[in-house]
Amino acid sequence: MESSKTPFDIAIIGAGIGGLALAIGLLRQNVTYTLYEGASEYAAVGAGVALGPNALRAMDLIDSRFRGLYDSISTGNTSPEKEHSMMEALMIEEGFGEKHGWTGASWGSKHARTSAHRKALLDIMTSLIPLSTVKFNKRVNTLHQEGTRVFITFEDGEVVEADAVVGCDGIKSITRRAVLGATHPDLVEPTYAGRYAYRAIVPMQEAVKIIGCYAPDATMFMGPGASMSVYPISKGTECNVVALKKDNQPWIHKEFTKEVTREEMVGDFNIDSRLVKLLEWAKPLRWSLHHHISTPTYFKNCICILGDSAHASTPFQAAGAAQCLEDALILSRLLGLVQNSIDILNVFKVYDLIRRPRAQHVVQTSIEAGEIFSFSHPEIGNDMKKIVENCNRRFEWIWEHDLEADVKEAEEQFRILTMQGEQID
Ligand SMILES: Cc1cc2nc3c(=O)[nH]c(=O)nc-3n(C[C@H](O)[C@H](O)[C@H](O)COP(=O)(O)OP(=O)(O)OC[C@H]3O[C@@H](n4cnc5c(N)ncnc54)[C@H](O)[C@@H]3O)c2cc1C
Repeated sequence: MESSKTPFDIAIIGAGIGGLALAIGLLRQNVTYTLYEGASEYAAVGAGVALGPNALRAMDLIDSRFRGLYDSISTGNTSPEKEHSMMEALMIEEGFGEKHGWTGASWGSKHARTSAHRKALLDIMTSLIPLSTVKFNKRVNTLHQEGTRVFITFEDGEVVEADAVVGCDGIKSITRRAVLGATHPDLVEPTYAGRYAYRAIVPMQEAVKIIGCYAPDATMFMGPGASMSVYPISKGTECNVVALKKDNQPWIHKEFTKEVTREEMVGDFNIDSRLVKLLEWAKPLRWSLHHHISTPTYFKNCICILGDSAHASTPFQAAGAAQCLEDALILSRLLGLVQNSIDILNVFKVYDLIRRPRAQHVVQTSIEAGEIFSFSHPEIGNDMKKIVENCNRRFEWIWEHDLEADVKEAEEQFRILTMQGEQID
């Protein structure tokens, strides 16, 4: 491990948005850590990412420099009058809903909409993290605890020790197995959400040629069994496209992606011919959507899980990365209070108490949002007015959540537990 500033050492596994955010937070709190990443370098998977107001507040509270850097790379809607529009809702069918007299309406927030290219987000996050604290090509094979130490065995045979491990190793997490394997073996693997996605990044000039004024502002096209969202990234020079398809079959492939033919991809959608053209920019690669619909605990002794390893969600509320940031905020602030490695158990207990109900609620409500956007919700169906009304209500608890109150509550709970001398077996 790195030379200690704190009398305990934390191993972070995985350098995705969750692991990087935790590293930034721990640096801010002067907590010693080593970040182990299985890949040979930092890499961003996917294309764009939309970050709601809660994500921005979490960045600010983790380290104000993080938020400042994000502001320098993030992109809002291009039309000034749509600054606060989170999504304009249209129908995916030919004519975008004109036949039904639907000309579009937005759901919004009092805050401005922002999104970013994932590579740009990765670059600003890694710029805050000393390379000396990161070890690449370190794929974890197993974790086991002996007394108060955790032993991490890597694929290359090396074994290292730490006082605690935070698994930020994504949806196929090894750490999740260490936390849940013995007590809830059926909840270790993610379950197929019955949806898959195609993704594309289209030069904005081309996207505007194809769908006109809808490309430079966030827009969601919805219809039976499918939806497609577009939003600007890269300072408006590129358009991020995600096409989502409902699937009634089980996902039988070993990998979470499956190559198909271009014809199969286009055949998946019965949509406006302009959207078919937009889809031509996508790789014919199905990305399955799996999630962790139930996670009964986020820790076991000195091992805990953060981000998708804890609460992988379908993307319908565009909230998964934001939940990683909220996790990192609470966990880094709590670890910043630790004087002695014995207290880490109390940190994980409080982290679980504060974070799990909210993050799991995001996973659950995202399922319903997916139903709404594919016209499958029994009470809403294809009523666009009701969909917009629902969305104007449904995001408030996610976006407007008081994170400072969460931090205060977490710190208070930690103090109470520590004063009681309570630890967890
Ligand atoms: C189609 C789609 C669109 C989305 N859009 C949005 C959006 O707009 N807004 C939003 O907030 N969220 C969105 N999300 C969710 C968001 O992308 C995720 O919640 C987030 O990226 C998860 O980050 P993570 O760090 O937990 O995991 P990951 O990004 O998966 O990172 C895990 C890291 O751990 C490493 N790793 C894995 N196993 C090991 C091992 N054994 N040893 C060492 N290292 C290991 C991996 O190499 C990787 O670097 C979307 C998701 C999808 C699928």
